[in-house]
Amino acid sequence: MITLQDIQAAKRSIADIAYVTPLLQSEQLSRICGNQIILKAEHLQKTGSFKIRGAANRVKQAAAEGAKYVTAASSGNHGQAVAYTANRLGIPATIVVPEDATLCKVNAIKAYNGKVETCGMTSAERIPRAKEIALQEGGVYIPPYDDPFIMAGQGTIGLEILEQVDDVDAVIVPIGGGGLISGILTAIKESRPRVQVIGVEPALANDTYLSRQRGQITSIPASSTIADGLRTSQPGDLTFPIVMKYIDDIVLISEEEIRQAFCFVMERMKQMIEPSSATTVAAAMFGKLPFTGKKVVTVISGGNVDLEQAARMIGGE
Ligand SMILES: *Cc1c(COP(=O)(O)O)cnc(C)c1O
Repeated sequence: MITLQDIQAAKRSIADIAYVTPLLQSEQLSRICGNQIILKAEHLQKTGSFKIRGAANRVKQAAAEGAKYVTAASSGNHGQAVAYTANRLGIPATIVVPEDATLCKVNAIKAYNGKVETCGMTSAERIPRAKEIALQEGGVYIPPYDDPFIMAGQGTIGLEILEQVDDVDAVIVPIGGGGLISGILTAIKESRPRVQVIGVEPALANDTYLSRQRGQITSIPASSTIADGLRTSQPGDLTFPIVMKYIDDIVLISEEEIRQAFCFVMERMKQMIEPSSATTVAAAMFGKLPFTGKKVVTVISGGNVDLEQAARMIGGE
């Protein structure tokens, strides 16, 4: 398992690449929720999501070990983060994306000088291809969450929250493969164990919720949730034990709640966030938190939403 020291080392390692992101507040959201709600604004992070933290920590480690090439298998935030970091470090990167990847995502990777290769429609096809390219080029495949350096990088958000928010009582975190929450859990529970950490999943992608209930990694069929960053089918081998050890609770959010939270943040707070991040706002808006009167930080994990999808959500489709 990763330790607090790993996260402190990650914080030093990524300081020249990732931003320390600001906090945002909404009095109206706090009133609706009955808790003081503070948003940790990772949608304003470089490349538009927290994924740069783990990617920077992992790619720097690869570079230190002499890697001359990196690859990843993701059309989304992880792919952009790996491409950006590799470019900053002067290492070539190939990002393997699905055949139906949207042009705007492909262009974002290319804008960071990443090479894009399309392969199949599923991660089961893309991951072996990304690993194969890494092997051919004498490089390293960078996984999205189930890796100690990735988890430690994401955990730097936990350290920042403890520094930025005096007397924080609880932190609300979305769960995909669990890299983000396992890092934050380690940072927080190993420095201030009384701070509660609550995970959030879409009801349509409740793999970690079910796994926790059963006490073992459990997979679900491919999910169609609008929260595309949370569509994993099961938690990771490295992330899940940390979730089991430390998490206080996991709450589930409906698609309509995600949509309404997205619209609230857009209309009232003037912020563009992506559906995966709107889940934590939805947890506050729709009475899912098991307490009131507390100081609560909700992690806004990213802001990369394409405008057509945003328009559909605003239109209520
Ligand atoms: C990747 C991602 C998540 C989930 O993170 P995991 O480490 O896979 O749990 C949540 N929100 C956004 C915006 C993401 O890109």
